[in-house]
Amino acid sequence: MKKTGTRRGFFSWTRNALAAAGAMRATPSFAASELAAQGEDYYAKLGVTKIINAAGTYTALTASIMPAKVQAAVAAAANHPARLAELQQKAGEYIAQRLQCEAALVCAGAASGLTLGTAACMTVGNRQSVSLLPQEVSSLKNEVIIQKDHRYSYDHAISNCGIRFVEVETLDQYDNSFTPRTVMCHFFNAAESGQISREQWVEVAHRHGVPCFNDAAADVPPISNLWNYTKMGFDLVTFSGGKGIRGPQNAGLLLGRKDLIEAASWSNSPHDETVGRGMKVAKEQIIGMVAAVDWFLSQSDAGMEAEFRRRAERIAAHLKDIPTLTHEIIVPAVANAVPHLVIRYDQTRVKKTPLEVSEILRAGTPSIELNPSTGRKPASAGLPGGEDTIVVGVWMLQPGEDLIVARRLREVLQKAAA
Ligand SMILES: *Cc1c(COP(=O)(O)O)cnc(C)c1O
Repeated sequence: MKKTGTRRGFFSWTRNALAAAGAMRATPSFAASELAAQGEDYYAKLGVTKIINAAGTYTALTASIMPAKVQAAVAAAANHPARLAELQQKAGEYIAQRLQCEAALVCAGAASGLTLGTAACMTVGNRQSVSLLPQEVSSLKNEVIIQKDHRYSYDHAISNCGIRFVEVETLDQYDNSFTPRTVMCHFFNAAESGQISREQWVEVAHRHGVPCFNDAAADVPPISNLWNYTKMGFDLVTFSGGKGIRGPQNAGLLLGRKDLIEAASWSNSPHDETVGRGMKVAKEQIIGMVAAVDWFLSQSDAGMEAEFRRRAERIAAHLKDIPTLTHEIIVPAVANAVPHLVIRYDQTRVKKTPLEVSEILRAGTPSIELNPSTGRKPASAGLPGGEDTIVVGVWMLQPGEDLIVARRLREVLQKAAA
């Protein structure tokens, strides 16, 4: 994109020119419209506390920040209306081509992907049936097979379609649990237990002619996971847009088989009388998701890992004088698979518990959120936790914030050790 001639270029040119001429104050109309273009700080206006996110991609903390290029693409899209159906279709085709799958749909987050994907399995080949969900599904296939250990807080998004879960534990049970009503086999990619592997899950489902879904919402990096699971044979895979991919927080990806993605779009906004009408994705989020896929594919696993490890080590280096303190850098196995800093110390020498430390950091200025596994068990996906553990999530920190976190931690722990 050309720099000169854009609105932004024009405003920064006029600002510089006017400032040079000392004319800023004499031309209030220019100054006011320039301010509007930059955006008012509504956090400040509303009195909302901005935080330093040393936790990770948690929705309750508004998760990731879109990279500048993605934010710019969102701002540019906001300037123009378009036809939604064309935008959805072309965005989907572009993403599918970049992520090496048959088809793709930008949805309102992975939870929305779960609902739309389930609806797709229930209604594929029968568009009229979409309005039967969720209450009148007795004429449709409505049983979803899942491993007992894969039941999780997000499966409500699947139940929203009016289905019933059939739980299995062994491979034999799985094979024998198919009925004429089986509509989908669901897999939770980051589950920490469960006897049946991804490959077995796909193989058995396909032998029975049933589509299978993999929820990999939080499971990038590695970047290649964006195609690993569709290539493995999963008919549908969903990812959060606003976690590791760093797209809009209210966007996500549903990837997979062409007929199923088409059926998922029937239940999506703007279509009324569907389970997905409330999961609207605006043009800004659709474009933002496409731009985020481009941005994420321009990164490298090694580059991201090295940067996060450097941040963790920089913080640890600041804490090396704290008595009894030890640290390790841990990369969870599947979800949030990036370096996290894990800190432990003898609480008879450093007399603040990890939970107290996290509360002090939260109450301070700037306000810092440590990873919610800090001081707690069970810990957040794949991380250690517990009463004696501080977990610093470094991957969502903005440039320079690692040093602020390091200084605050050092201050609080040093004082507690005195
Ligand atoms: C975060 C998450 C979701 C929900 O993702 P959203 O994009 O916030 O809707 C679903 N499943 C799993 C496993 C997740 O980690």
